[in-house]
Amino acid sequence: MILAHVNSLECERFPLEKFLEVARDILRNNGVSSPVIVDESLKVRENAVICDALRRLGARFVPVSTGRDKTLAQRVGLDDLGFYDEIRPSSLRVFDSPIDLMTRSWPTPLVKINLRGISAKTVVYVKLEGLNPFSMSVKDRVGWYMLINGLSAGKRKILYEATSTNTGLALTLVGNILGFKSRLYIPRPVQKTSEAILRIAGAGVVRREDKSLTVEMIEDVDLLARAEGGIHLNQFENDFNFEVHLRYTAKELDLQLKSVGARPLAIVGGLGTSGHLSALSFYFKSKYGDDVKVVGAQPAPNTSIQGIRRVESGMKWVKYVAVDRIIDVEPSQAVEAVRRVAETNGLLLGPSSGAVIYALQRAYEEGIIPDERGAIVAISPDMGVKYGEYFLNVMNK
Ligand code: PLP
Repeated sequence: MILAHVNSLECERFPLEKFLEVARDILRNNGVSSPVIVDESLKVRENAVICDALRRLGARFVPVSTGRDKTLAQRVGLDDLGFYDEIRPSSLRVFDSPIDLMTRSWPTPLVKINLRGISAKTVVYVKLEGLNPFSMSVKDRVGWYMLINGLSAGKRKILYEATSTNTGLALTLVGNILGFKSRLYIPRPVQKTSEAILRIAGAGVVRREDKSLTVEMIEDVDLLARAEGGIHLNQFENDFNFEVHLRYTAKELDLQLKSVGARPLAIVGGLGTSGHLSALSFYFKSKYGDDVKVVGAQPAPNTSIQGIRRVESGMKWVKYVAVDRIIDVEPSQAVEAVRRVAETNGLLLGPSSGAVIYALQRAYEEGIIPDERGAIVAISPDMGVKYGEYFLNVMNK
């Protein structure tokens, strides 16, 4: 057996279900036990799906063999496969480009906070995705990854996307760098100030007053993109949305918790496309088992919290993973949680982060999250400074 650099092999891309099956085994076993069988010129002959899974998970090396042996004498661990190598922050924060600023600022910060009612043996961390540089949200990862993997679709074309702001902003700004224009479709509840931000960033913006959710516009956006020769990357269906979080967000969090010796007890997040929470659930439950609880936050019926929506409105990746509890959150409860975190910890989070904090406290009170020594992680999609208009509306109700 030898280790081949992943870029030296041509790995066919398998359907999501097959990839997940093999990725789950790799994470559960903390490595691989079977080599990819190649010929003399490194052409993949067998176990191509292992090659695909390691590449999609971001490993640097693939164990290969030209022999007939289907198993390795010894399991090759994730560390030896260079699984964690791609997380390499710039320590003195000097960057070659704005995209380098994003990727080499990863991991996004993981910050210990104090929350009322959580016992002293349990530590709560918040992962601040709002400190990404473009949309200042979790969606920078998605915009970037969908774009770099979709570049063959043709530069200088127009990107069409239904968005509640953050994905659209990320696609527009990263797209500006890579040579794309964008046309974004936003539903009625999106704040007016968000529309202004999208336009200043360079996007064409169409507000659909007849739609209350982004998902309700997907079909129309798809038809328009086809008719007008544009590209619809479609964050709701595009597996690169889920995969970027599996490859980076989850791996980062794993490394971060390991670095402080914290056992993951629970991960709490919001559900929009379900990309980030599904990937985190898949990664942590595969690697550490079902004892790691996963809790999702959704807006209470007939209410709106920008960026998240109700699971029954239909989302792709959450169907492939386990979520232990989904908690309804009223806008007033989300905003009150934002206020409390600001008051007790000095961090001003966005409304969907407020919903996440509220859900975390509810799941802990209900006993879904065990009262044990370890860490609960709240994923904060973005910060509060973008949401003056929304806060005002909720506070005035
Ligand atoms: N919160 C905010 C502010 C968002 O913009 C989004 C997604 O757009 C989410 C939460 C949900 O993230 P995901 O689409 O990964 O489920």
